[in-house]
Amino acid sequence: MVKRWWSLAAAGALAVSVLVPAVPAMAAPGFKVPFPCGQSWSGQTRSAHSPANAVDFNRTDDLGDPVVASAPGTVDRVTDLGGTSYGKYVRINHGGGYSTYYAHLNGFNVSVGQSVGYGKVLGWVGSTGGSTGPHLHYEQRLNGADVQVRFNGTLALYWGTKTYTSNNGCSSGAASATVDTAGTPLTVRSGPGTGYASVGTVADGTKVTIQCQTSGTSVTGTYGTSTIWDRIGSGRFISDAYVYTGYDGYIPNVPRC
Ligand SMILES: [Zn+2]
Repeated sequence: MVKRWWSLAAAGALAVSVLVPAVPAMAAPGFKVPFPCGQSWSGQTRSAHSPANAVDFNRTDDLGDPVVASAPGTVDRVTDLGGTSYGKYVRINHGGGYSTYYAHLNGFNVSVGQSVGYGKVLGWVGSTGGSTGPHLHYEQRLNGADVQVRFNGTLALYWGTKTYTSNNGCSSGAASATVDTAGTPLTVRSGPGTGYASVGTVADGTKVTIQCQTSGTSVTGTYGTSTIWDRIGSGRFISDAYVYTGYDGYIPNVPRC
């Protein structure tokens, strides 16, 4: 979890004056930087861009560098517009109305209908279409309209140029996290819920390795209310409500138990 309880309490206090939509919007996919794990790229946004919220990515000698899927989905366009617009581009449908665009590619590595996951190479950086030099033109869209880009839930810089480092496809399968209970030892359970036997405790401030996450009984803790339970060993589970992971909800790349 990443949100602190007090911020949720404040949000709750405000909620009385805010209309709640009858059908809540589906959460956005966990979009990641569209380049392989560990790479750093300069991403530029500018209000005169078309569409405005797109990001142009560059790094030194980037021609031919692999471009990867920024979230799991299905490839629904692999199109060559020739010397205009996007040139060679790929579109991925992520469900829930979300899609991403990867344009000016040098070549394609996927075909329409293909399912892709994090880190899947879609094609290579090029300068096709209406491009004056190699770069990746990248967009996130919701129901067809371009939206401001987020990576790992964090809004990109609007407007300007910033370095983005990819954690895309860094599939260790486990995550490091820190127990935060404000002093009290946290009870470890044999399963994902308060009804399971206590099999020990972990002290406040302990660094833990989360092997997998699952849903269990709801717990209210330091980071709000959560039904997520983290497995930190064989037959050892702790409530995610007391664990700082850097993410609200499930951690990308960590498997479900
Ligand atoms: Zn562009």
